[in-house]
Amino acid sequence: MAVSNPTSTAAFLAAVTAALGADAVNNSASERADVGRHTLPAPDHLPAAVLYPASTADVETIVKLANEHRVALFPISTGRNLGLGSRAPMAAGQVVVELGKRMNRIVEINDDLGYAVVEPGVTFNAMYDELTRRGSALMMSPTAGPPDGSLLGNAVDKGGGAGPLGSHFDNVCGMEIVLGNGDIVRTGDGGIDSEAHPNWHVTKYSFGPALDGLFTQSNYGIVTRVGLWMMQRPAHIRMFFFAFPDDEDLGEIVDLIRPLKAAQVVPTMIRATNDLYLISSQQKHPRHDAAGKLAPLTDAERRELQKKHGVGSWMVSGALYGASAAAVEPALERVKAHFLRSGKARYIPVEEAEPRAIFQAAINSNSGRPAGGELQMLKWRPGDGAIWMTPGARMDGAAVNAFQRGCRAAAAEFGLEYMASFVCGQRFARGIHAILYNRDDPEEAARADRCYRKMCDVFRSAGVFVGRAPTIYQDYHQNQRTPEIVRACNAIKQALDPNGVIAPGRYGIH
Ligand code: ADP
Repeated sequence: MAVSNPTSTAAFLAAVTAALGADAVNNSASERADVGRHTLPAPDHLPAAVLYPASTADVETIVKLANEHRVALFPISTGRNLGLGSRAPMAAGQVVVELGKRMNRIVEINDDLGYAVVEPGVTFNAMYDELTRRGSALMMSPTAGPPDGSLLGNAVDKGGGAGPLGSHFDNVCGMEIVLGNGDIVRTGDGGIDSEAHPNWHVTKYSFGPALDGLFTQSNYGIVTRVGLWMMQRPAHIRMFFFAFPDDEDLGEIVDLIRPLKAAQVVPTMIRATNDLYLISSQQKHPRHDAAGKLAPLTDAERRELQKKHGVGSWMVSGALYGASAAAVEPALERVKAHFLRSGKARYIPVEEAEPRAIFQAAINSNSGRPAGGELQMLKWRPGDGAIWMTPGARMDGAAVNAFQRGCRAAAAEFGLEYMASFVCGQRFARGIHAILYNRDDPEEAARADRCYRKMCDVFRSAGVFVGRAPTIYQDYHQNQRTPEIVRACNAIKQALDPNGVIAPGRYGIH
C-alpha cells in the first residue's frame, strides 16, 4: 500500500478524533507543510495529517483504525532526523504519528543497574537535565546532532554517538512495540506472561529469538518504549586532540587508532574528522553571500580556513576516563607517544582546546552533554540542503584512504565540498559524510543527488554498504541487496503488518 486514498483517510481521521479527541489530530495546512519539509534533493512530502497519541493504548487504537481504513501511517519520535528525511513521511499523503509530543515520560532511571526506560519523546536534553537534577551517577551517550532528538528514535534508527556506548542500538535492552497488526509485544524478558518483568531491561539474551533488531530501520511496528543501558559517570574525563596536516594522512590515522582501541587504552570511540566538517559547524562558506552560483571552495581557500580555525586536514579526538587526573596521566602519555611517533601529528592539549568553539562538539559528546554542534552545518551554503551519507569501513588505513580519495573526487566533480568524519573502533569505522548544497537551486540539488550516488558507488564497488539512509534513497539501497534478503524482509512485513499500514516503503521494505 503506497498511499492511502483521500476518502479512507478522511474516515480514518474522523474515527481517530472520535476515539482519542480532537487534540490528537492536526491536519492544518501549516502543520502539514512544516512536517512535510526536509533537506533532501526531492520535493517535500506533505502528510495527510499528524496524530499525537498519549499512550501505548492510543497507538494501538490508531494502528487498529489504520488497518480498518487501510491508511498508511508514518511513526516518528521527535522527528529530528536531519539530512535523512527530517519529519517527512516516505510519501506524500501518509499520516504522520508523532509520538514524542505527548509520550515523553522517563519511566525509570536505575542508577544501581545502569539503565533507563524511556518513551519516544524523551530527548537527549531531557535525559541530561533529569540526570543532572537527580545528581545521578549515570552518564548518557549523546549525539553531536540535534539535542532535541529522541533517544529512542535515534537508537531504533541505529544512530550513533560518542563515548564508550556510542553505538546506540547496542545499548537497547527490552522494547515495547505495537505491531502493524495491532498486537502489543514486549521483547526479551518483557515477554513472560506475568505482572512483573524484573529482567526486561537487564538482559537481552534469554528465551527465544532476540527480536529487538527487527524493529531497527524497518517498518514492522511502532516502538513505544525502550530500555537503554548507560555507564557510570567517570570522576575524571581527559580529552585529547591531534591535528594532522594532509588529506592523505587519514590512512595513517586509522592504522594508529586500531591498535590503541584493540589494547583498550582508550575507552571512547576515536573520531577522525576532516577540516570542512568541523569548520562548517562554525561558519558559512566564505563566499556564501556572493551573487550567482557558489563555486566550490578552492584548495587555497581551504588552507586559509584551516589556519583561521587552527585545525589540520584531519583532527583526531577521544577521551580517557579515570578516577583522577593522576590516574589517567599514564594513558595520556601513551596516547601522545603513539600519535606523535608518526612525526606528522600535532598534540593539542585540552587547555588549548577548551576555550575554542570548534572543539566543543567533541568535548561535550565525550562528557555526556548533548550540544548539537553539527546543526550549524546546514547553513554552510544557502538553501539549507543536506544529505547525510553513512557508509562504514574496516579499520584498514589503505582502504579508508581509498574511500577518502574517491569521495573527495566525487565532491569536486559535482562542485561541492568534501566533509567527512570517521568514528573509529577496533574493527570498524562509521564514516559520516555531509553533502551540503543549495536546495533552492534545482541544478545544484540535482548535482547533490548525483554526488550522493557517486559517493555510494565508491564504497559499493568495494562491497561496502551505507548504514542509516535518507528516506528518498532507501529503495535504491534495498535494490542493491540480494533478492533473497529483500524477500525475507518483505515476508516478515507480511507476517507482522499484513495490510502494510506502518511506513510502507521504509528502508525499501514493502
Ligand atoms: P530523532 O529525533 O532521534 O532523529 P526520529 O523521530 O526522527 O528521531 O527517528 C528517526 C526515524 O526512525 C524516524 O524518521 C522514523 O522513521 C523512525 N522512528 C522513530 N521513532 C520510531 C518509533 N517509535 N517507532 C518506529 N519507528 C520510529
